[in-house]
Amino acid sequence: MDKAKEVTVIGAGPAGIAAAIYLKRAGHDPLLLDKKGPGGLIVNANLIENYPGFPGGIDGPSLRNRFVEQMQSLGVSVTRAHVKRISRVHKIFRVETDNGDYDSLVIIVATGTRPKRIRMKGAKALEGKKVFYDLEGVLANNIVDGRIIVVGGGDIAFDYAINLRERGWKVKIVSRSTPRCLPLLWKRAEEKGIDVLVGYSPVEVLDKDDSLVLLCNSHGESKEVEGDRLLIACGRVPNLEVLDSRLRRNLWRRGLPETGVPGLYLVGDVARKRYRQAGIAVGDGILAAMMADSYLKKGGRR
Ligand SMILES: Cc1cc2nc3c(=O)[nH]c(=O)nc-3n(C[C@H](O)[C@H](O)[C@H](O)COP(=O)(O)OP(=O)(O)OC[C@H]3O[C@@H](n4cnc5c(N)ncnc54)[C@H](O)[C@@H]3O)c2cc1C
Repeated sequence: MDKAKEVTVIGAGPAGIAAAIYLKRAGHDPLLLDKKGPGGLIVNANLIENYPGFPGGIDGPSLRNRFVEQMQSLGVSVTRAHVKRISRVHKIFRVETDNGDYDSLVIIVATGTRPKRIRMKGAKALEGKKVFYDLEGVLANNIVDGRIIVVGGGDIAFDYAINLRERGWKVKIVSRSTPRCLPLLWKRAEEKGIDVLVGYSPVEVLDKDDSLVLLCNSHGESKEVEGDRLLIACGRVPNLEVLDSRLRRNLWRRGLPETGVPGLYLVGDVARKRYRQAGIAVGDGILAAMMADSYLKKGGRR
């Protein structure tokens, strides 16, 4: 193992990228690790309209490309590594990955979230074939004009539905209750010819030749919704399991992005519960980077 790094940032989504850019400009050489490469969740976003600087909005992949260009111009790079475990011994953090282990004085955790799995009969057996939890999985199948059922009522479900409609899919959204998404997304979905079925609770998915049937319960009655693929977007859970149990126990003892463990910061979606937005993640990343800079300058005191 080499000498301990000053700062390691785990996750190269908006939060981790913003932290690494700030640190680089402050004279540090942050190690930025990501299991997939740069961009994070925004690569799945159809249209980001609330991130300042882009009148008319910007699609997620283009925003990711802008982030990458900016990182390259500043000499910030992403190291591919899947972090398995972070622990702390004698004030030094140990980061274990599938691409080597690292020691670090400061850790910024920016690992975001993953889709919540729902309990629905038949779904597990079809996962990755006809049932998906993220957009990338659906797009990997190279179908352009199939019928897709999107389950969920939040902004992400509606953004996915509009995205797929614009790619030629026939889309139905199934929402258990009144959708929580921004009203403008609901309106846009309906204008694009997306059927929004409200009050349908999915119960079971049945495999049927090349297609599938989603059995729902609607106001006590059983209803069938047919499609070729099913995309489930029913909430997300934070990726905190990289932290060992001792670190996890001490996370929430200070105001974010600080934690109860000196030198450990938690930023962006992994930390923000229901307030998950790219702009919040970027702000968190910068704030943690500034705190980390000051912590290092004070020789490990806050
Ligand atoms: C469809 C959709 C539409 C959206 N629309 C908008 C919008 O219009 N406006 C807006 O502001 N926000 C939008 N968002 C939300 C926005 O994408 C997130 O808030 C933002 O990406 C959070 O950034 P983050 O850096 O905290 O986490 P993420 O972007 O999730 O990045 C986390 C990174 O950590 C990496 N990682 C995770 N675990 C590990 C590990 N163990 N080892 C190594 N790397 C790891 C992941 O690969 C990922 O790159 C949208 C999201 C979606 C899905």
